[in-house]
Amino acid sequence: MISVAINGYGTIGKRVADAVAAQDDMKVVGVSKTRPNYEARTAVEEKNYDLYIGIPERESLFKEAGIEIAGTVEDMVQEADIVVDCTPGNIGPQNLEMYKKAGVKAIYQGGEDHDLTGLSFNSFSNYDDSYGADYTRVVSCNTTGLTRTLSTIDPIVDIQKVRAVMVRRGSDPSEVKKGPINAIVPNPPKVPSHHGPDVKTVMNGIDVTTMALLVPTTLMHQHNLMIEIGNEVETEEIIDALEKRSRVLVVEANEGLGSTAELMEYAKELGRNRNDLYEIPVWKESINVVGKELFYMQAVHQESDVVPENVDAIRAMLEMESDNEKSIAKTNKAMGIL
Ligand code: NAD
Repeated sequence: MISVAINGYGTIGKRVADAVAAQDDMKVVGVSKTRPNYEARTAVEEKNYDLYIGIPERESLFKEAGIEIAGTVEDMVQEADIVVDCTPGNIGPQNLEMYKKAGVKAIYQGGEDHDLTGLSFNSFSNYDDSYGADYTRVVSCNTTGLTRTLSTIDPIVDIQKVRAVMVRRGSDPSEVKKGPINAIVPNPPKVPSHHGPDVKTVMNGIDVTTMALLVPTTLMHQHNLMIEIGNEVETEEIIDALEKRSRVLVVEANEGLGSTAELMEYAKELGRNRNDLYEIPVWKESINVVGKELFYMQAVHQESDVVPENVDAIRAMLEMESDNEKSIAKTNKAMGIL
């Protein structure tokens, strides 16, 4: 049984912890927090995770709050075969030395630069690259969403050029101090946004350019893809490929799933943990081949689509499963992914 530590028990970290706990070949040895807030309390009192503190000087704050701690992050790392680092972007580089000193492998998230590890991960497009690796990085929620569908159509479509416009949620639902509240913000206001280059870190050689906007919503990102293709392919073949792929859902606006709000309601209907939608929904009505161009629209549940990829990355790095499809199937089954 592989021991996994989660450094940073926030939006992504708490989901990765539960996803690891749901597998039968790995277990959570600890999670970490820097503040004794409600997430720290529920980690200990509801989920029974051992809680370690990221800032040792704050031990008294946890004591005052009556939240039991098992030690510091340095102690936690000693217990682990691998650390999933889910701290906020740019904290990761500070932690790398600690992981190296402890001789422990580590997975970073999309908020860190590719250069930190020199290796990025997606379960479908480049699982093998991280096989046995010491450090990798699961690409961001948007990059994971783009890669899931592009890698699905790649075997049947001669992709010449991808252009994508991404409408991004302004903040996660609990982030009360972020915006915008009443504006559309080109973000970044330059082309390309970082997402296109990021896709290239997991899909070698693809020509993809992205533009991104922030809008006042907390419910999902939405992507609009325009793809120049070099071969003859029917719309039905694209739909068929997307329907067959796990972690991708072909949904119909006609059935009442015409918006991100309704998709989030659908996740509730499915009885998902935290109402998560790990799959990338693609609107069936939007999939269309016009001459030598393919178009489609999709959505991304930013808080959860990267979670199963983290589980697969653990299996790849610890050489627990050499076949990506087998790891994907195992993760999906344990998490109830469609
Ligand atoms: P978050 O702010 O929700 O959670 C981060 C957690 O790390 C918090 O619990 C915080 O207490 C803890 N933390 C902060 N400093 C720490 C330290 N020095 N040591 C230990 N713990 C520390 O952040 P998040 O949204 O979960 O993002 C984490 C990473 O995942 C980032 O790289 C982000 O870019 C990436 N990511 C976020 C999303 C998203 O939509 N939220 C999606 C995909 C990837």
